[in-house]
This record gives sequence, structure tokens and C-alpha cells, in this order.
Amino acid sequence: MKTARFSAAERGQSTLVHDPATGLTHLSEESIPAGRVVLDPRLVSSLPVVVPRDHHGDFPLSVCWSPIIRCNLHCPHCLDDKTVPEAGPSERARIAEVIGAAGVLGVDISGGEPLLLGDLADLSRLLSRRGSVVSVTTNGWHLRRRAAALAEHIDAVRVSLDGPAALVHDVWRGEGSFSRAVEGIRAAVTAGMRVQIQTVLMGSTRRFAQEVVHLAAELGVNGVTFLQMLPIGEGTRLGPSEMLTDEAARELVRELAVPSPTTVRLRTRGDAGGFTVVRADGRIWRNGYPAEGISGLRPLRIADDLALTGPDGSA
Ligand code: SF4
Repeated sequence: MKTARFSAAERGQSTLVHDPATGLTHLSEESIPAGRVVLDPRLVSSLPVVVPRDHHGDFPLSVCWSPIIRCNLHCPHCLDDKTVPEAGPSERARIAEVIGAAGVLGVDISGGEPLLLGDLADLSRLLSRRGSVVSVTTNGWHLRRRAAALAEHIDAVRVSLDGPAALVHDVWRGEGSFSRAVEGIRAAVTAGMRVQIQTVLMGSTRRFAQEVVHLAAELGVNGVTFLQMLPIGEGTRLGPSEMLTDEAARELVRELAVPSPTTVRLRTRGDAGGFTVVRADGRIWRNGYPAEGISGLRPLRIADDLALTGPDGSA
């Protein structure tokens, strides 16, 4: 049986299990020891999912932390606010300690491009020693170079692909970015990492979704997450022409043929509502309901600053 690392926590009569590859938190009626645990991914993926709007705990189930704004690519659909100042190494380590102390089940280290960070493994260690599982979201350009060394520190890697071939992907990400990402995925799979392909659903690329699933199967990755585009950051300008409704996205994903054991999930804008992000300057950012704007912003000084407060979960 193939196993993988997850994070579990008791909540009332149930146990929550977080999957670092998909970013999903599942509800288990079976008791599972709290903390970082090794489980069968097929078992976890069969459990019901808890999205932020259905979670009534004091702290987020998981967070996305973007400790870096810098990126080697310049995508027109980027969600990042490039004007945010980046905290230095000592402040990054402090933020990792504080996020870990909040008891979140999963932390996705995003960017900018996190593989540009020399202290990425150290940050992951600080987060995981408190029981979180840690994933990294990357454009894959530097993944081939870093996969082997990071495999023992990172629980899963999520690689952004906008299409199944350079002809589609490079239009958005720049020349050479598709082949670098695929080389990186192969290196990560070889290094034993769990790899998830992440594809932003857009009007102009939706017709390639099935081929992305076939590519995932061919590469032997865990699965594909289709992300509904959020009208945030530089993506705001593209929003009206490229955004699909959540219903159209559900229908598209429902019709995909998914070869076993590949898995496919869709993150709608509704599902992304209430999700918590810690930005590169150490400020907390929380999606509105649905995720079409920002509902709060405050500095992360102590773990309690991450608490879900207010009836709408605003920061
Ligand atoms: S979308 Fe990702 S790869 Fe593209 S510029 Fe933004 S952070 Fe970099």
C-alpha cells in the first residue's frame, strides 16, 4: 500500500485530516492520532471535505503563506500584489514559528516563486515541527534543480500548468516555462514527492482541461486541481473576459474522463471564500465570500492574530 504524510486533529466527535497535495481538509469518523501522520491517500480522498465556510473552529484549517513576492516569471493572470514589501530571513523565520503555533493543519508556501528562497527547507521545518504538513506552490522552473534536496522537508509540491503543451502554457507564463515545469515534475516524482498539477480555469484555456488530466496521468502525479480564477491582483484586468461561473466550472470538471489512480478536484470561488493568506510583509489577508475580494488585513504578531473572528470569518 502506498502511503503519504497528512496532518490530523481531533474536533469534537470527529477527526480532521489535511492533505498537503490537494489542500483539502477531510472529515473522518474514525479516530486518527493528532499531528503528522502517515495514511493511505485513497482512504483520505474518499472522506467528505470541509471547506472554510463550513468550519466553525477558532483558527483556519490551513493557510497559504506567500513569504516572497519576487518571481522569475511575469504572468498576466498573477494574483499577487507586487507592491507588498518582503520580510527578511529572520522575520520569515518568526512568521513560520507563529503560523506553526496557531495549530493550522496545513501550510502552503506560495509566492512569488518560493523556490527562489534559500531558507525554504528551514521554514518548512519550523512549520512542520508543530504538526502542520507543508506544501509548496511553484511555477516549476527551478524544481528539477531543487527536488531531490527538498523531498525530505516538503510534504507535497503543487506545480502550476496553464495547459498541456508549451503552445498553450508559454503564452501565459513565457517561453521555456512549460518544458521547465514538466522537467521539474518528473524530477519531483522521481524524488518521491507527492505532486499536484494546478491549473487556473480560464475562458481561453478551458478546452485543454481534458489534456491536462491525460498529462497528469502520463507524468504519474497525484492529481490535478482546477482553480477558479480569482479577480484579484493583476488578474483583475482579465476577470470579465476569462472568468467562468462556478456552475460552468463544475460542469466542465464533471465531464472529464479521469484515468485511475489520478484524482481531479475543482476549487470554486465559493470554496475559496474565507480562506486565509499570510502575505510577504506578514499581514493576514482573508478571502471574502465568495472569493472575489479581500475581507480583512492585519499584521501577524502572535498566533491569536490568525483567529477566525466575526460572523463572516473576517480578520
Ligand atoms: S502567477 Fe505565479 S509564476 Fe506567474 S508571476 Fe505570479 S507568482 Fe510568478
